[in-house]
Amino acid sequence: MTTPIQTIASALLAARRIVVFTGAGMSAESGIATFRDKPDSLWAKFNTREMASPAGWRENKQRVWAWYEGRRADVIATQPHAGHIAVAQLADTLQRVHGNPVQVSVITQNVDNLHERAGSESVIHLHGSLFEPRCMACSRPGEFASAPPDPQASTLEPPHCTHCGGYIRPGVVWFGEAMPEQPFRQAEELVDTCDAMLVIGTSGVVRPAADLPINAYQLGKFLAEINPTPSGLAGYMKVQWPTSAAQGLPELLAQIEQVQTS
Ligand SMILES: [Zn+2]
Repeated sequence: MTTPIQTIASALLAARRIVVFTGAGMSAESGIATFRDKPDSLWAKFNTREMASPAGWRENKQRVWAWYEGRRADVIATQPHAGHIAVAQLADTLQRVHGNPVQVSVITQNVDNLHERAGSESVIHLHGSLFEPRCMACSRPGEFASAPPDPQASTLEPPHCTHCGGYIRPGVVWFGEAMPEQPFRQAEELVDTCDAMLVIGTSGVVRPAADLPINAYQLGKFLAEINPTPSGLAGYMKVQWPTSAAQGLPELLAQIEQVQTS
């Protein structure tokens, strides 16, 4: 009888292009509250229309900017967990075992930078990033004030664009806004060409992000879910491994390494 971890390890060892698709659960294990983990998340305590919509921004930019700077401060004070680190080490681990080059790409719905800080080099942010603000007027990348963000501030003047003087806005996708096209196309391309896809810590209900694993399923890719409880995408999975990312992913690396010695 093959266990979920063995099935996933074998599939990854046979793959050369791997997509790791992560959602809120991945960040939650580092202690970061996210859009969807209600009822006790920061998002539930605030009015999403005020804090996460273009209308809220037009109404009170200082309040919105202060809030996102607070979230950025939270992330800066947080560390990637063992699961983020395992994802960053996956390609090297596989290559050490079989000697062939492996590409691991992360597609995340999260707006923090924990994958990058753990060492992942290829990270696509489907819903934007707290760390990539841009000009409201000309869309050029913006810069933060040089002082570190104050998590307690309830109002804060947003910086201005050095090119056109427009307001710099948070780099996250708000409710009522379309997902940025280019990252989504890149993500689709990665899914089209991958051999295996791991779906980690996502509820699987946020569209169109959730279409990516469904595309992978329709293309006949190996699909495995690593989630404490089955997501809305569980029906598409070859394997559902009920564990958390911080717990399961280091075990998965150990399982892959065992092949080398056995
Ligand atoms: Zn500008």
